[in-house]
Amino acid sequence: MTSAQAAVSALELCRAQARALPAYNAGLSETLVRKRYRVAQVRKLASNENPHGASPAVAAAIRDWSARAHRYPDPACTALREGLQQWTGVDAARIVAGNGSEELIERICLAFLCAGDRTVTLSPSFGLHEIFPLMMGAQVTKVPVDARFAHDLAAWRAALAQPTKLVMFSTPSNPLGCAASRVELQQIIAAAPRNVLLVIDEAYHEYAAGPGYPDVLQLLAQQPRPWVVLRTFSKAFGLAGLRVGYALTSETELRAIIERVGTPFNVNGAAQVAALAALTDREHLRSVVAATARERQALVGALASLESARQPGLRVVPSCANFLFIDTARSARQVAEALLARGVIVKPWLEPGFQTFIRVTIGEGGENDAFVTALADVLPQIPPAPPG
Ligand SMILES: *Cc1c(COP(=O)(O)O)cnc(C)c1O
Repeated sequence: MTSAQAAVSALELCRAQARALPAYNAGLSETLVRKRYRVAQVRKLASNENPHGASPAVAAAIRDWSARAHRYPDPACTALREGLQQWTGVDAARIVAGNGSEELIERICLAFLCAGDRTVTLSPSFGLHEIFPLMMGAQVTKVPVDARFAHDLAAWRAALAQPTKLVMFSTPSNPLGCAASRVELQQIIAAAPRNVLLVIDEAYHEYAAGPGYPDVLQLLAQQPRPWVVLRTFSKAFGLAGLRVGYALTSETELRAIIERVGTPFNVNGAAQVAALAALTDREHLRSVVAATARERQALVGALASLESARQPGLRVVPSCANFLFIDTARSARQVAEALLARGVIVKPWLEPGFQTFIRVTIGEGGENDAFVTALADVLPQIPPAPPG
């Protein structure tokens, strides 16, 4: 080949679905924000991480593991899956561990979706519930929540009356923060065709579990369709940097299918021992969840005073997770940009219908105060925007 030949465009060679794929709207890094805005302190409230960190048992497990860093990890994640059997009551033969639950979402789409198949999800939605189906050439139908941010059951029924391969949504919902009720879940499941795979993403399960929160596993086990419940160590367990999530599945064959469509060593050795260690420290998990609930309540209160004092229009969606979805009644992009200049990173929602909303993670006390102060500063400077 000579340099005179015209260069071949990778863009032309790649699959049309890959070319058209929207990028995941990941939060900005702390380093970048510190550099670009020359702020001394950065509050990272855009990725729903746990600011309290992982159990000390995790650090000890990783130290012990480090002597085995030259060995490949157990591709079956045997010890971790046995720990998860104890933790969830689901047989280890029906559990798959993943490189974060994101990887499991990707594998489910790889295994189940052909071009033209239809996925139904909730709107507003977690980005990857849409992006991975699109990558496979599937169509995505989004069912918007109603004006009270609850599931619009008539809209679900209408969407599920069409041929559907996959139903996938999160509860507690990211970005809404609130959870589907038992009745809502029952009705959505009942409206789904028989030959559909149900995937419920419970990334925030640990924050919400307790009285009033429906037992999703039990609801799914009582109906005939194949199902997957996704959970993660990235949020309440505080292991986002290690990348471990897991899928609880309706049958061993489904576990095997999800295992087959990916690389064998998907969960690294440090992550496997860390996740298992995290399960042994219930007290740490309990204290993280309790602290988050306290901080969430304080933040909701501070936002309510802000609203009544100076900024009519602010609306906060009730949350049982470690973040709040807030209607700022202004361009979320502008609000988030102005907050960045004050060292606070939040996530502006870019999905049509929700472009005046920001999602903010519940941080530690000082971080939440810094967010409220910064928000009070920036809101008067940004003109109100029409909803949507
Ligand atoms: C954070 C999050 C995930 C990703 O979890 P990982 O295990 O870190 O990949 C998946 N689903 C939802 C709804 C989330 O909010």
